[in-house]
Amino acid sequence: MARPLLQEIDKLILSIQDSPDLKKVARTSVAAQIDDKTETYPINVFSIGSEDPKSPVLFICGGVHGLERIGAQLAWSLLKSTLDRLTWDKALQHLFSNIRLVALPLLNPVGYMNSTRSNGNGVDLMRNSPVRATEGTPFLVGGHRISNRLPWYQGSPGKLEPEAEALISTFHETTREASCVVAVDFHSGFGMKDRLWFPFSYTSTPFDDLPEMHALTELFEDIHPYHIYQIEPQSQGYLLGGDLWDHLFLEFKKGRKNATFLPLTLEMGSWTWVRKNPLQIFSKEGAFNPIREHRLKRTYRRHHLLFDFLLKALHSHEAWTGLDRNIRAQHEKWALQRWY
Ligand SMILES: [Zn+2]
Repeated sequence: MARPLLQEIDKLILSIQDSPDLKKVARTSVAAQIDDKTETYPINVFSIGSEDPKSPVLFICGGVHGLERIGAQLAWSLLKSTLDRLTWDKALQHLFSNIRLVALPLLNPVGYMNSTRSNGNGVDLMRNSPVRATEGTPFLVGGHRISNRLPWYQGSPGKLEPEAEALISTFHETTREASCVVAVDFHSGFGMKDRLWFPFSYTSTPFDDLPEMHALTELFEDIHPYHIYQIEPQSQGYLLGGDLWDHLFLEFKKGRKNATFLPLTLEMGSWTWVRKNPLQIFSKEGAFNPIREHRLKRTYRRHHLLFDFLLKALHSHEAWTGLDRNIRAQHEKWALQRWY
């Protein structure tokens, strides 16, 4: 069950190496090698499109929580369709001459292979960053240092896990000079709805790019008024410490106040799969992933729309970034009314 995805990712790398056309627009690298007991797995990075460091970037990431396999599968599916289309679709080729897609489809390969949320050291990567929660967090779930045998373990103080380091260094290398970045990290969890979270996780205080988040949401909802997402700040659910995206956002904003960065988390609600096949909740994997093939394909299809929108929104980011001061203030007001 788990290994085919690794093979599919290898096939994508080969498809780039074997195609003179794709080789012109896509590059692959390995951010880190992660050791398990008997095997070593690469963390592969795909970079597609413009090599201009200032170009806008869509950064996608899957498989942070190994057990939530659908996240890595969705990242792979989006990558594959992008590469397939780039061999013939002139409009997409043009779009990619101006923007860059960076993808880490499987950040936690050991967790993925072993069906665990954490990495091989028992650390929850989304609790491993140096950011501490400023308000009360729920016991365990908000992150803890009690034991790596319990879920949500943050790891040793001050020590970044190799997967977290790989994400941080890849992000810095590929977005250092970008004026506009949107990231989407794919997860799944209990719930009926697919949630699209924006920062912060460590505090309920609004983040700096809230006006841009609102302006982008408005564009999305104008075109897709019946979309499936519940869009909200992550802090609306519960607060947690050690979120890697909080850390990346705070670092990004140092000395770059005018650049925009929206780190989004897509939390796919597993009840949409479970309620159609209730027995699957008794399997560890079934509670977090669509099991039947047709439901897996439907999940892929469901999110291609958002992905496509984000590519285009980055290509035309002047429509929602660099806003006039008064318009920006208006968006901030609307955002505070809607979300806080
Ligand atoms: Zn997750």
